[in-house]
Amino acid sequence: MERLKDAVDNRRDQLITLTQDLIRIPTLNPPGRHYLDICEYIQARMAPQGWRCDMVRAKGAPGDCEEFPRWNIVARRSGATRGETVHFNSHHDVVEVGHGWTRDPFGGELDGDRIYGRGACDMKGGLAASIIAAEAFVATYPDHAGTVEISATADEESGGYGGVAYLADQGAFAHVDHVIIPEPLHKDRICLGHRGVWWAEIETQGRIAHGSMPFLGDCAVRHMGAVLAEMEATLWPLLAGKRTEMPVIPEGARSSTLNINSIHGGAAEQAADYTGLPAPCVPDRARIVIDRRFLIEEDLAEVKAEVTALLERVKAQRPSFRYEVRDLFEVVPSMTEKSAPVVTTTADAIQQVLGREAGYVVSPGTYDQKHIDRIGKLKNCIAYGPGVLDLAHQPDEWVGVQDMSDSAKVMALVLEKLLT
Ligand SMILES: [Zn+2]
Repeated sequence: MERLKDAVDNRRDQLITLTQDLIRIPTLNPPGRHYLDICEYIQARMAPQGWRCDMVRAKGAPGDCEEFPRWNIVARRSGATRGETVHFNSHHDVVEVGHGWTRDPFGGELDGDRIYGRGACDMKGGLAASIIAAEAFVATYPDHAGTVEISATADEESGGYGGVAYLADQGAFAHVDHVIIPEPLHKDRICLGHRGVWWAEIETQGRIAHGSMPFLGDCAVRHMGAVLAEMEATLWPLLAGKRTEMPVIPEGARSSTLNINSIHGGAAEQAADYTGLPAPCVPDRARIVIDRRFLIEEDLAEVKAEVTALLERVKAQRPSFRYEVRDLFEVVPSMTEKSAPVVTTTADAIQQVLGREAGYVVSPGTYDQKHIDRIGKLKNCIAYGPGVLDLAHQPDEWVGVQDMSDSAKVMALVLEKLLT
């Protein structure tokens, strides 16, 4: 173990440069920029060291086109003898920059222990840590058993269909025994899975008329107001009362939650530089998009039935009320057993490297584990990686060099335990 820790320590400069280089490739999603560039960068690093690198384009996946092809890379190294396969999966895409930055979002600036940039913690720091861990392990144990795999995949931020879902569909996880996803959950915590999600659009319907004679029409916005009032009165209290045994962080996400992502009704909003006045109409359509996050104790059909029952209650009060519900997206909750081998091995490694017991958490939102679980049919999967989750998608996102180095040691030790 000491030799392995030294091998990671000796690569500290490489860890920094690698993280900076990855940040400097602006893999913005949407629309999905520079995916081939980042895959080629990883290939150029790993192939000369004897890793077999497969470049996989998710042809026909959502968003895939000639201008923005969905490229993925899987690098693989088999040892001297047969054994298990350990797979580290990181997404290489990052979300938009947004406002409020004081650093160059694609500069990869190193300041003290921190490296700044969009994607620094979510999750190029985790990708770099897993690559350094794997390289340190291979250098220390060139004749290891089994196989190490490192993948960098597209589109996690937009559902993962051009990334892990595509690979899983192609059978990329059929021979894999253990998966670690180095998302930024902090170096001493193991993330077992995530809550479920249901996105839907609810539309209330009315009849257009002149705004000076609203009694001749039927106002869809007033109907939506009644829906929202019913949500305040009955739905949010109901959801707040549902508690889970899943160790979700932060604490507030241990209940069921529902967000209204957007609301729209009536005439379309005009561009900010439009100087005309609006026209007077009774709105005949109003829409909200809801984001319902549910618990492992809940059933998706029951989650949907709660909303339908609410709409029916409103209908009973309002004779002309009409509505439609359209499903947009759904994922059931996923949670790996604490006794699964990848969990117990990682927990042991955290204890040995950091001298403290691992914490167990569940993510409030979903990530690519859903595809490994549902399409790849592999339950032995966790998220474990460096960085502070709260910094993800924020301005001045950063990742700590020491955190990356510590979690790289944990990952290298996991390989030692499973493949030697
Ligand atoms: Zn992420």
